[in-house]
Amino acid sequence: MVSRVIPVDAFDLVIFGGTGDLAKRKILPGLYRRFQAGQMTENSRIIGAARADLNEDSFRALVAEAIEEFVPKDRQDSKIVAQFLEKIGYVSIDATGEGGWGKLKDLMRDGVVRAFYFSVAPSLFGDIAERLHLHEIADAQSRIVVEKPFGRDLASAKALNAVLAAHFTEAQIYRIDHYLGKETVQNLMAVRFANILFEPLWKAEYVDHVQITVAETVGVDGRGAYYDKSGAMRDMVQNHMMQLLCLIAMEPPYHFDPDAVRDEKLKVIRALDPVKPEHIVRGQYLAGGGEGSYVEHSEDPSSKTESYIALKVNVSNWRWQGTPFYLRTGKRLRARASEIAITFKQPPHSIFDDAKGWLENVLVIRLQPNEGMNLMVMIKEPGPGGMRLMQVPLDMAFADALGVDAEDVPDAYERLIMDVIRGNQTLFMRGDEVEAAWAWTDPLIEGWEARGDKPQGYDAGSSGPEDALMLMHRDGRRWREIKG
Ligand code: NAD
Repeated sequence: MVSRVIPVDAFDLVIFGGTGDLAKRKILPGLYRRFQAGQMTENSRIIGAARADLNEDSFRALVAEAIEEFVPKDRQDSKIVAQFLEKIGYVSIDATGEGGWGKLKDLMRDGVVRAFYFSVAPSLFGDIAERLHLHEIADAQSRIVVEKPFGRDLASAKALNAVLAAHFTEAQIYRIDHYLGKETVQNLMAVRFANILFEPLWKAEYVDHVQITVAETVGVDGRGAYYDKSGAMRDMVQNHMMQLLCLIAMEPPYHFDPDAVRDEKLKVIRALDPVKPEHIVRGQYLAGGGEGSYVEHSEDPSSKTESYIALKVNVSNWRWQGTPFYLRTGKRLRARASEIAITFKQPPHSIFDDAKGWLENVLVIRLQPNEGMNLMVMIKEPGPGGMRLMQVPLDMAFADALGVDAEDVPDAYERLIMDVIRGNQTLFMRGDEVEAAWAWTDPLIEGWEARGDKPQGYDAGSSGPEDALMLMHRDGRRWREIKG
């Protein structure tokens, strides 16, 4: 089945930080893929804006290199690359100075969507927002896209929101959380709200617990100094994992409309209880597998920053009271795997007296690798010899089920940038959501800082610290195996 591609309106997209790592790895290759798919129309343009003193040709060469490096070889087509490069422009701009803005203004066209991607450090958001207005480059219809991290606590997130709100309305601001652009994450909403099967069971009465895992094999490597100011809680839980939790726990919105969806997510964040210290496990990876330990990378031998965190979270509302949500994320773990697993309760009564091996139904939503869903169900083991039960997966690997090549499923960034051009904010975080998430996060971090808690060491290539296993064992439950 070939998916339908609906072209978006013509646009001028300015990428501040167009020479940076994110632009090269994700934004520019993603735009090329959308151009190749026919979604970005002929009349659209992309303008790189960064400090580097490049001209149009040298920036185009940089874009060509990024495509060569980050687009799969069999999806590179020199003719299409050449056509794509014709759409690329460049302006050298220092966000904190006045040079270059006049040239940018001259490049912008009327009658097309104007979007500005702030792929720069958040400390520059204010400078850019202000100058876009001062030089009359942005208008009331323009859209801005901002990257994570959106603050490092509630106060800084509020300050960032205020800086942006001074020049743009909330309807113009697209806060990216690329997890929301993943195919499976959106499918989670389709599965919940387009089927009758799951929603009646989607509550504490029938759901024993939920596990959300984001496991990475990489360490902090060259990013030690940055990561040391962040840690797994700020880097992963406050944003990505919180968004996943919201999509599982939220009530059905009255309509698939940006504010209706975001209102429901906000209610979930507000319903989160503070997490007790005994329900938080923080870890730091040790040396192993030929790589140094976390502290060796962090430049601070006494660093207490967590490269792993596990939490038991309670959503305090009618639907979820009594169903814990277990979250864990970490670096240098045994496999790169992200998934959500919804474990249902056992049936209230067994009619099979000698049924052996009875397990719960589990709905597993895999984010990576192999995006897809798996529903674990019990069946009878084939053959004679009594009623023996076994668990089998009803596997829905999307690429297989839909007959598409996994390479052709748009990457999260591709989808989200197209949503910006379409003016659809459903998959972007609203300012109040981000603030509510920090309001829940801050006291947890302040708590372990005040207690002087040290993260527990864990072996590189393991499933995380021992205490994280205990967090589940104490409740008579087990983490699912981390499998790539
Ligand atoms: P980077 O350091 O590789 O690139 C920064 C870019 O900003 C460069 O193009 C540079 O020229 C430009 N820049 C710096 N100072 C400037 C100034 N004064 N005026 C104009 N341009 C200036 O950074 P990056 O990794 O591309 O990250 C960009 C943003 O995206 C950051 O906020 C980062 O946190 C966020 N982000 C990055 C990634 C990633 O994978 N790289 C992932 C998620 C979020």
